[in-house]
Amino acid sequence: LRSRGSDLLVLDCGPKLAFPLLFDALKASGSALPQLVTWNRDYEPFARQRDTLAKAFFEARGIATETAADHLVIEPHELAPASAGGKPFFSVYSPFARRWFEFLHSPAGAQRIAEQQMVLSGPQNPAESFRIRWDQLFQGPNGSKPMDALDSTQSANASRVTVPLPPAGHTAARDAVENFRAKVQQYGDQRDFPDTGGTSRLSIYLKNGSITSRQVIALLGLGNEDFKSRSGTAIFLKEIAWREFYYHILWHNPHVEHQAFNPAYKDLQWENNPQWFELWTQGRTGYPIVDAGMRELNTTGWMHNRVRMIVSSFLTKDLLIDWRWGERYFMQKLLDGDLAPNNGGWQWSASTGCDPQPYFRIFNPELQSKKFDPDGRYIARHVPELAKLAGTAAIHSPPDDLYFSRSTYVAPVVVHSEQRLKAMALFKQQ
Ligand code: FAD
Repeated sequence: LRSRGSDLLVLDCGPKLAFPLLFDALKASGSALPQLVTWNRDYEPFARQRDTLAKAFFEARGIATETAADHLVIEPHELAPASAGGKPFFSVYSPFARRWFEFLHSPAGAQRIAEQQMVLSGPQNPAESFRIRWDQLFQGPNGSKPMDALDSTQSANASRVTVPLPPAGHTAARDAVENFRAKVQQYGDQRDFPDTGGTSRLSIYLKNGSITSRQVIALLGLGNEDFKSRSGTAIFLKEIAWREFYYHILWHNPHVEHQAFNPAYKDLQWENNPQWFELWTQGRTGYPIVDAGMRELNTTGWMHNRVRMIVSSFLTKDLLIDWRWGERYFMQKLLDGDLAPNNGGWQWSASTGCDPQPYFRIFNPELQSKKFDPDGRYIARHVPELAKLAGTAAIHSPPDDLYFSRSTYVAPVVVHSEQRLKAMALFKQQ
């Protein structure tokens, strides 16, 4: 922004204090107050509260507010099941996604994509939007600029973030879309194999708004995909719909942020062994695919979706640890950490969520590993102690024999076949 003659002011004191601070500083320096404040709508419970507060604050001072939809293709309140008398929201993905596709194909949906097509092909650096400089606004006799927290925020972040950050911003997001363009047709066949790089890696950009899902659809020309199609493009679009489904669930059920979606499972008696949790976070459970996933998370800030499903199933159904522990750890580590899909993914794996997935469908980590990382290349990359076993069946379940010394890798922390029975008993108690 500065290189384009503009500016950024970072206030690090929370919205309740920051808006009055800014407002008073503008008034004291005799600057013109804004006539209109606009922002994009956000759907998380905290954000909803913050935005309500902001709206009330500005409107009480005679400043108009205007909000717009940009974060999702279709906002959570826009879709509702047809049958009256039912719930005002979809609690199952497939009917939601069918309606979502119908909306996308409607004139209103097509318009949303077409509008983005125009934005994307328009000028990228509209000079007019970059004219404000904060220093100029606080130049009056009593004016002084509120303390700018840009540098302190940046250095606090730099000390917290220990993984390499991908290139930031809209241009980088568009590069990621272009990298994915050649892969999208194979997405259906490749997306479940963590070693193939077959997914888009767009989650961080979608989360932080560097690009929007409408723009991704416009750039890849996905607006006419058929819900029933098995093409890579249609399957990819269904994943975008999964993201929106979890926003829909969170919007209509804000309690899921802290509780099981399914009330029957809100008081499950998890064992919550802190030592096991520690081993899980460190990637030292003795289950290679689980450990590879956790180490990928710890070293890169991202984890492949199939492996997210495996490690979350393992934490809840094998280690019998509350899904909220895992959800929190993911939020601390993921660069794409996003309340709605993270919470939805965790509750899906823990069987406490909105999918009609029975609790007795428990992932067997070894079978998952054999199926989705058949040569063990993903494991070998993230668990170097096991690299010499790549290409052999042993990499999925290392034997305690001549080929392999337990001193270099850890023994399995639990026995899967025993733990799955305990998990089933845990759910049956409810
Ligand atoms: P792609 O496969 O290329 O998919 C394209 C986009 O579709 C993604 O960027 C994402 O926005 C969306 N998407 C894909 N799969 C899912 C899904 N299962 N649920 C919801 N949206 C999806 N996604 C996040 O963005 N943030 C999270 O914090 C997050 N936590 C998760 C936790 C668990 C336990 C699980 C099982 C899944 C979680 N996901 C989360 C969903 C998914 O794993 C990631 O979106 C995906 O791995 C991101 O990689 P990608 O961009 O290459 O995905």
